[in-house]
Amino acid sequence: MQKSSEIVTRFAPSPTGFLHIGGARTALFNALFAQRHGGVFKLRIEDTDRKRSTQEAVDAILDGLKWLGLDWDGEAISQNARQDRHAEAVAELVEKGAAYRCYLTAEETEAAREKAFAEGRALRSPWRDGGTAPDGAPYTIRFKAPDTEMVIEDAVQGQVRWAAKEFDDLVLMRADGTPTYNLAVVVDDHDMGVTHVIRGDDHLVNAGRQTQIYQALGWTPPKFAHIPLIHGPDGAKLSKRHGALGVEAYRDMGYLPEGLRNYLLRLGWAKGDKELFTDAEMAELFDLEGLGKAPARLDFDKMAHVNAWHMKRAEDDRLTGLLWARIEGRDDLRLDAQSKVWVSEAMGVLKERASTLAELEDQVYFLLRPRPVEITGKTAKALKDDALERLARLRAVLAEHDDWSEPALSARLQRFAEDEEVGFGKVGQPLRAALTGGAPAPDMGFVLAVLGQEEVLARLDDVL
Ligand code: GLU
Repeated sequence: MQKSSEIVTRFAPSPTGFLHIGGARTALFNALFAQRHGGVFKLRIEDTDRKRSTQEAVDAILDGLKWLGLDWDGEAISQNARQDRHAEAVAELVEKGAAYRCYLTAEETEAAREKAFAEGRALRSPWRDGGTAPDGAPYTIRFKAPDTEMVIEDAVQGQVRWAAKEFDDLVLMRADGTPTYNLAVVVDDHDMGVTHVIRGDDHLVNAGRQTQIYQALGWTPPKFAHIPLIHGPDGAKLSKRHGALGVEAYRDMGYLPEGLRNYLLRLGWAKGDKELFTDAEMAELFDLEGLGKAPARLDFDKMAHVNAWHMKRAEDDRLTGLLWARIEGRDDLRLDAQSKVWVSEAMGVLKERASTLAELEDQVYFLLRPRPVEITGKTAKALKDDALERLARLRAVLAEHDDWSEPALSARLQRFAEDEEVGFGKVGQPLRAALTGGAPAPDMGFVLAVLGQEEVLARLDDVL
C-alpha cells in the first residue's frame, strides 16, 4: 500500500536508558495509528541532552523497537543534528517579537522567580521589553508567553485549560546556543509533518507550552492525545520493582513480540471487552476513541494469558528456532540435529502447555536430557525393585512393537498394564521416571512416539 503523509505519527524517545514498557506502548500506539490510516510512523531520537544521552541507550531503543516489530519509516532522526534549524526558528521568533534576549544571571532569575511566585504570577523577565544589553554578557532567549488563557483539545483528556499565570517566559535557547526541549520538539514535529502526537500525560503541560510556540510561529499544532502513565499492579506509579523494565527483559522472560504488543495494546486502550488481537486486528481497529483516561495497571497474569494465546498461534518451526536460540550452548542438554527434530515434532503439543518461551523450555527438557537421564530424588522412588522388573518386561514388549504411532503405543501400554493386572500408574510412573527423569512431559504414548524406539530402549537400558 502506498503510504500517505496525511497522517504522520512519531515516537520521540530520549536516549537516556533502555526502551521501557511505557515507551514501548507509546511507540506501539503511534505505529498502529499510522498503520490504521495508511500513514507514516517516524522515529526521532531526542539526544539534545549530551550529558545524559548515550549511544548504548540509542542502540537499546532501536533494538527494542525492532524486536517488538515496530518498524519506523525512513531514517531515525537525531534531534541534536538539527540544532541549526532550531536556531533558525528561534531567530524567527525573535524577529517576530515573540521571543527576546534575556540577560538575567542565574541568581537574578532565581530572585525573579521567587518574586513572581510570591505574587501568584508566572515568571516574566525584565528584558522582555528590551533594554540596553550589557556588553558581551551571555544571554538566553526566552519566549514571550502570551498573557492569555491557553486552551487545547486533547483526544484523551478533552478540553484542557491553563491560566496565563501558569506559563513562565520559557527559555528557548540556552546561553551556550543549545535549544531547549519544547522549542526543539515543536520545530522537529513541524518539519517532520507530524499530524498526531500520542504520548504520556506527563507531557500534557508541554502541549500547552508547545501550542503557544506553534501559534507564535504561525504553524498548525498537531492533534494531541495524552495517555495516562502505566501503574504497577498495586496501583502505585510504575517503578523497576513492578517491572518497569526494558523490553529486552520481557524478551528474556520469554514473551513473544506479538504477545507483548497485544498486551501493551490493551494497557490503556479498549475495543469493547476484546482482549486478544492478531496484528491485523490491531492495525484495523486501533483508534484514539478507545484510549482510556484512567491509568492502566500492569498485570503479569494477564500478560501471560495473552502471550499463551499467541504461543498457540505461532508456527511450530519459529517456536523451535526461538527456543533453540535460548538454550544454545548449554552443555547440560543434548543439542544436536536429532534432538531438534524431536523438539519440532513435539512442538504442536508442547506449545499448548506453555504461556511463555521460558515455560516452553521447561516442557522440552525431557527430550533434551543427555543419557543416562539423571533421575531426581522423588522420581527415583518410582523405580523400586518390582517396578524395575516390570520395566524389563515392558522393554521386551516395546522392542517387539513396530507401530510407533502415538495411538498404537498408548493402546499397547494399556494392554501391558492389563496383562500385568495392575493399574496404569504402576506402568506409567516407572516408565516416566526412566524416560524423563521427572521432567514435565505429556502422555507416555506421546513421549514414546516422539523419542522413537531406539532412544526409548536405550533410556530403559540405562536404568535397567
Ligand atoms: N523525549 C520525550 C521523552 O522521552 C518525549 C517527547 C515527546 O514525545 O514529545 O519523554
